[in-house]
Amino acid sequence: MKVHEFQAKELLARYGVPVPHGRVATSASEARQVAAELGVPTVVKAQIHAGGRGKGGGIKLASTPDAAEAAARQVIGMTLVTPQTGPEGRLVRRVLLEEQTAIARELYLAVLIDSSGGGPVIMGSAAGGMEIEEVAAAHPEAIHRVAVDPAAGFQPFEGRELAFALGLGGELLRPAVALIAGLYRLFVEKDCSLAEVNPLVVTQDGRLVALDAKLNFDDNAAFRHADIVALRDVEEEDALEVRAQSEGINNYVKLDGDIGCIVNGAGLAMATMDAIKLAGGEPANFLDIGTVNDPARVVNALGIITADANVKAILVNIFGGMARVDVIAQGVVDAQKQLRADVPIVARLAGTNLEEGLKLLSDAGVRVEMAADLGEAARKAVAAVKA
Ligand code: GDP
Ligand code: MN
Repeated sequence: MKVHEFQAKELLARYGVPVPHGRVATSASEARQVAAELGVPTVVKAQIHAGGRGKGGGIKLASTPDAAEAAARQVIGMTLVTPQTGPEGRLVRRVLLEEQTAIARELYLAVLIDSSGGGPVIMGSAAGGMEIEEVAAAHPEAIHRVAVDPAAGFQPFEGRELAFALGLGGELLRPAVALIAGLYRLFVEKDCSLAEVNPLVVTQDGRLVALDAKLNFDDNAAFRHADIVALRDVEEEDALEVRAQSEGINNYVKLDGDIGCIVNGAGLAMATMDAIKLAGGEPANFLDIGTVNDPARVVNALGIITADANVKAILVNIFGGMARVDVIAQGVVDAQKQLRADVPIVARLAGTNLEEGLKLLSDAGVRVEMAADLGEAARKAVAAVKA
């Protein structure tokens, strides 16, 4: 789960990380009012769940309330395209207005889970403002890493080490260590997967300020963070993923290909996506339907998959153990009556109650192309798309 920049900054402030004064606005007239209340030159920032807004025209400087109103009028309602939104862009519904910061230096600071190290790592770079992936590609030596022992917790010497590496010595050392410690504590206490400040700036009057912030949270820990879940903005999330969750299908991830897949088991779902790729196709989704004992669940899953206009074929790959093939087959039969008929279905079915399942399909006259194994199923799905 993600939150908006203004919400991330409110959290950061609670952990002692300095952020600019500001407030969110949902209309141009409200933006004018906020700018007038702030009483200083402002920056008007589009609030969407994607970065690179500066490059896309979603960040504007405004020296007066009039200018802030004009900037907000331009930004609210625009479809903002940035290097991170994809070509379709994102509709901007609100802007954050903040006091302008006079920048001396821009740095990068983040806490994230290092999957190879298996623990949290604090990353910093003196090349702030740039996306960290670009820095990693062009100047890997500019990125400093401190792996934190999660049992021992963050140690002040680790903060000092990183601060010095970023050129934050002297007067800036104490506030830098406090800021890093606060960011780390937020990361742990709120079960983040990423807590990123980019840029972290040194102001011209010698203060440290988090000018931009991005927080990603581990969905598996959402149950113990009602305060974070309350900040969720479903309008920023993929509509089909939101629909899947509301129907109890928690393991649906939309992708960009054209072969929809229904699979039982996350590992089998991964293998199915690999098999599709190997056969020259592109999966339209990841979907682990789990152990199915209700045909309605299959109908829901097929409904979500066929609601994706990119989908040109469906691969059903069920290795029935706990999941019964006849239940899946009944779901396919039920769904056929309700769903888009022009999408061919290829199925590889194996396991418990296979015969009953096959009989259900043939009795109902459902056109399902059967495959004996996963490779054949993937090849047939790819052929169906091309036909
Ligand atoms: P992003 O493009 O979505 O990552 O948005 P950021 O909030 O990081 O802003 C992008 C860039 O705009 C920053 O790296 C700064 O260079 C600039 N910027 C943002 N806020 C201010 C500000 O208050 N003053 C000045 N001078 N520049 C700003
Ligand atoms: Mn940024």
